[in-house]
Amino acid sequence: MIQLIPFNRPCVVGGEEEYMQEAISRGKLSGKGPFGKKCSRWLEDQLGCERAFMTPSCTAALEMAALLTEAGPEGEVIMPSYTFVSTANAFALRGAAIRFVDVDEKTLNIDPEQIKQAITRRTKAIVVVHYAGVACEMDEIMKLAEEHGLWVIEDAAQALTSTYKGRPLGAIGHLSAFSFHETKNYTCGEGGALIINHAPLIERAEMIQEKGTNRAQFSRGMVDKYSWRDLGSSYVISELNTAYLYRQLQNIGQINKDRKKTWKAYAEGLEHVMALNNVEGPHIPDEAEHNAHMFYLKCRNHNERAELMDYLKKNDIVSVPHYVPLHSSHAGKKYGVFAGEDLYTTKDSERLVRLPLYYGMLEEDVRYVVKQIQLFYQV
Ligand SMILES: *Cc1c(COP(=O)(O)O)cnc(C)c1O
Repeated sequence: MIQLIPFNRPCVVGGEEEYMQEAISRGKLSGKGPFGKKCSRWLEDQLGCERAFMTPSCTAALEMAALLTEAGPEGEVIMPSYTFVSTANAFALRGAAIRFVDVDEKTLNIDPEQIKQAITRRTKAIVVVHYAGVACEMDEIMKLAEEHGLWVIEDAAQALTSTYKGRPLGAIGHLSAFSFHETKNYTCGEGGALIINHAPLIERAEMIQEKGTNRAQFSRGMVDKYSWRDLGSSYVISELNTAYLYRQLQNIGQINKDRKKTWKAYAEGLEHVMALNNVEGPHIPDEAEHNAHMFYLKCRNHNERAELMDYLKKNDIVSVPHYVPLHSSHAGKKYGVFAGEDLYTTKDSERLVRLPLYYGMLEEDVRYVVKQIQLFYQV
């Protein structure tokens, strides 16, 4: 009797409960407690960034980034259409117009050439998404941004511990955002971080995170009462969540090793099937080292994907598609436009399928998934 193989299982390394108990016993559950500070410091050391703010989600971190870059009703923001809604929503909330552009066919990351074409006098920022934890072409993007005086925000939701030319993702743009949602490699259920690589933004970020007040300065004894100073919201994550998360950050090497083993088993096991059937897998450029966030297949077309997913489902394997291109969604049409030509975004989103990949996935289960895909293609 084969048990259902889910698409994801939230990561548990062991020891999370003890840390949460420790936080409860200490009697401080709101944010920025000892575990919150440990997570911030861990990220600051790992990335070599100016500051890491622990937030309730990556969505919250992106909203902070939109407030910090002042992408308002007069401004435009360039980003891929092939991304999660939060990438765009954060900026649409500020009233900015979104200019969606096409992705690179091989990596499904934003294409620097398309960014160049989409820049206007109103452009304020470029938001890049490191899809599947694989780095965008950051040198070209940073150069473009510098030439035009634009902010660069990395939506690094999937990309913690990945690198570009040896540099950690999240440490390259002016700002970046990570996610610790249960579908990500390292998690606390819901959580995120805003990374600041551009020091002048720190002071305002502190206020935005604390409901627009100077509470952070108050906590440090710099002012004798705190008050409303700026726009802001409730962007602090609870101590309980950071207690859970810190345990995973301490064991990040172990998590990576395990995920990479599964990713490699897919890549090797499916190499033959892919080559014989014109099916593509993830492409990892030479300058990028990835964190095994995702293994996907790009079938020849939409129909083949539907048949493959159906076949896998009948054999107790859950596989899932990914983004509906934002420019073709209801809100995407209202808040943005596609700039340039959509050569790959729609086509690839219709043929991509993600395979089960989670911490602790049994080797025999990975082999079983590979086998079923081979049977589907009758190799
Ligand atoms: C998961 C994800 C988000 C949202 O993260 P939350 O922590 O759930 O808010 C944003 N962008 C991308 C690219 C993601 O993969």
